[in-house]
Amino acid sequence: MELRVALGLALLCSALEAAPAGPQRARSAVGQFWHVSDLHLDPTYHITPDRSKVCSSSKGANASNPGPFGDFLCDSPYQLILSAFEFMKDSKEQVSFMIWTGDSPPHVPVKELSTKLVISIIGNLSSTIRNFFPDLQVFPALGNHDYWPQDQLPVTTSEVYNAVADFWKPWLSDEAINTFRKGGFYTQLFESSNSHQALRIISLNTNLYYSPNSVTVNITDPANQFAWLEEILETSSQKKEKVYIIGHVPVGYLPYARNTTAIREYYNERLVKIFRRYSSVIAGQFFGHTHRDSIMVLLDEEEKPVNSLFVAPAVTPVKDVWQMESNNPGVRLYQYDLLDYSLLDLWQFYLDLRDANEKNESNWKLEYILTKTYGIEDLKPESLHEMAKQLSMPHSTLFEQYYSNYIVSYDKTILCEEGCKTCQVCAIRYLDYSSYTDCINQEAMWR
Ligand SMILES: [Zn+2]
Ligand SMILES: [Zn+2]
Repeated sequence: MELRVALGLALLCSALEAAPAGPQRARSAVGQFWHVSDLHLDPTYHITPDRSKVCSSSKGANASNPGPFGDFLCDSPYQLILSAFEFMKDSKEQVSFMIWTGDSPPHVPVKELSTKLVISIIGNLSSTIRNFFPDLQVFPALGNHDYWPQDQLPVTTSEVYNAVADFWKPWLSDEAINTFRKGGFYTQLFESSNSHQALRIISLNTNLYYSPNSVTVNITDPANQFAWLEEILETSSQKKEKVYIIGHVPVGYLPYARNTTAIREYYNERLVKIFRRYSSVIAGQFFGHTHRDSIMVLLDEEEKPVNSLFVAPAVTPVKDVWQMESNNPGVRLYQYDLLDYSLLDLWQFYLDLRDANEKNESNWKLEYILTKTYGIEDLKPESLHEMAKQLSMPHSTLFEQYYSNYIVSYDKTILCEEGCKTCQVCAIRYLDYSSYTDCINQEAMWR
């Protein structure tokens, strides 16, 4: 457990001695929070000689190498999820809160789930988290799988929104719960005894904008979430609050596909516009859904970096049979400046699934520390932008590292070159249609 000791010491130093972070600047005290995403519990997972029957989420395919902590063709066994929370709890990290960006049910055919089952899985995982961390403030967000049928999250109150609101009552204010019941989103102020300034969490239901959601086709502002978001951000800006945006489906372009946004293009343009307008209020944005580890830097119209966005990798290791790569299970810890909530660093932890199954022991460990791996000072937009420029360089070894982290050390021999790299690097820096398309065309000319 030397890594944990090292982390503990590093924090102690920065908190107590105000160790200088740069030549001129003294670093102020540091706060921390956990981010978990895409747990995707598969309650059917069990070890059996017939590999096609190990888990429903393999959809009839043979599990590849099933063990107690899961398989790359299956969603999470409960034991894997428990091991993740056990690790976080045992780490004794001092955290102020946890964000949990959705997707609890497994990837199985629609007919194998129901509203009742989806609700019970979300309830099960909500109480699992509460049992591990009874006193911790958790800020959850809904994922596209947190509904039945999946992806079809509605624009008005529903059985699922109501049931989930009841599960999340211990974490959220009455006002947040009321908003959540109507549209699956909310905002809540986080008041810390360590900071004179409050932090506002805005948990968006970006599943309303998700391309496969047929409920919202042709609706310009599903559940009036855009109007609500702009109003909250306007008030925050007047009150000089700082905001973290959390959500499941990310804004911007998918790093693994060309010219494809995760949410519909029209909604993407609208969100980018809002985020640019209120970038001085927003101190960080956190998403899940792709199951991979990636960053984005929002640039304003003058190409000045104004926001840092993070997509956290999944706890589930699942992939489809035809996919070459997956991800090892991951959870992450962020560090932020207690004075202004600007992001200082992230520590990505992971479980080497093959190793864990072989040894029948879950040895969660540190995968990388962002500032150290990429040689940047902190996670502020300017620093991430510097990192992004480095990654874009031809033959960048740093990009090889980034890609290995992207798949959570799934397989170091898998390389991402040519068109693969183009998609990755354009998605990092260009979140709107026009700048992204320019990037893709320019990169294509060079290659
Ligand atoms: Zn997911
Ligand atoms: Zn998802």
